Amino acid sequence: MTAPPPSSTASPHYDLLIIGAGIAGLAAGRMAQKAGQKVMLIDKGRRVGGRVSTRRSDGFVFNHGAQFATSKSSDFGDILRAASTAGMATNWQIENKKTVVVGTPMMRNLPMFLAAHLPIQQNRRIAKIIRKTDHIACVDTDDVPLTARKVICTAPAPQTAVLLADDFPDLAATASHAAYAPCLTVMLGLADDEMLPKMPVKSAQHDIGWAMCETARPAAAQHRPALTIQADADWSATHKDDTADSIIKQLIEKYQLATGCQIGAVLHAHAHRWLYAKVTTPSPAYAIICQNNLAIAGDWLGGARIEHAFTSGQRAFLALNQTNA
Ligand SMILES: Cc1cc2nc3c(=O)[nH]c(=O)nc-3n(C[C@H](O)[C@H](O)[C@H](O)COP(=O)(O)OP(=O)(O)OC[C@H]3O[C@@H](n4cnc5c(N)ncnc54)[C@H](O)[C@@H]3O)c2cc1C
Repeated sequence: MTAPPPSSTASPHYDLLIIGAGIAGLAAGRMAQKAGQKVMLIDKGRRVGGRVSTRRSDGFVFNHGAQFATSKSSDFGDILRAASTAGMATNWQIENKKTVVVGTPMMRNLPMFLAAHLPIQQNRRIAKIIRKTDHIACVDTDDVPLTARKVICTAPAPQTAVLLADDFPDLAATASHAAYAPCLTVMLGLADDEMLPKMPVKSAQHDIGWAMCETARPAAAQHRPALTIQADADWSATHKDDTADSIIKQLIEKYQLATGCQIGAVLHAHAHRWLYAKVTTPSPAYAIICQNNLAIAGDWLGGARIEHAFTSGQRAFLALNQTNA
């Protein structure tokens, strides 16, 4: 971690450096590895997956980010089927005619499946991206540079816009078009969840975007009783600066009103603020995504779902390797 900055004659550390090990970064990383490139993924988080995440706390399990995946493209459909075959995903019927795919026994298993065999450094945040004559330097928060011939940045659009503003202004401009809604999420460890609905709860009247008993998710019956409640976008935007205690109290009340059920004894409570949860305005389809050996990727370049992130990661890799830009 203390290597000096390379001279212009030193070889870059990697063929490809990918910032972010969420779904977009993992999709790009898999393609790079398949193409025989020397690739490294860097993520500021403790685990792979980004917003496809699961939190374990006091023995409770909460799927507090993305709730399920859907697929329209054959590539992503193939990946979901492969994850299912490996026992890391399964189908879940959430409505009469709607079947989706979830990671098993928890959502984080889906990105873990994608990440198998990929070189990834966690807990490392890139603070600067600098364009050099023959490579790109990504400098972390300890001021340590990592160099690569090519880079893919998959950080959420507002963070990408900041990272690229100086040396890749056209790509920063693409990123600055995208907008997100926040999502306030409450995680409750319960003494008992017997009386709570076993299907997803949504209630526009009570500002609930999604609420789910964790033990009622597929392959999760062995988990301790727990409930995850996600407020809808409008309520989250209005209340994102409320205290954690207030968010927890209000969402418990809303859930009880929406379901007519009492939550009972709460053994553990935590509120998480997703500030960039769901994309509300993606960057336009014609926007520049690759320039000077750097490409950008993320759900925000195509939509708001896991599949958009996956497709975008693949597209970024192909753009970098087709243009020789
Ligand atoms: C509450 C919630 C519910 C959702 N529900 C669904 C759903 O049911 N179905 C669905 O399809 N989608 C859902 N989504 C959206 C879905 O999670 C995203 O579309 C998808 O996960 C985005 O993947 P990504 O790789 O583009 O971005 P991210 O998952 O955000 O990954 C970006 C990664 O980059 C890392 N990073 C950022 N900056 C840096 C830096 N400077 N240095 C190093 N690393 C960095 C982050 O740690 C992160 O891991 C939901 C999202 C949320 C938050």
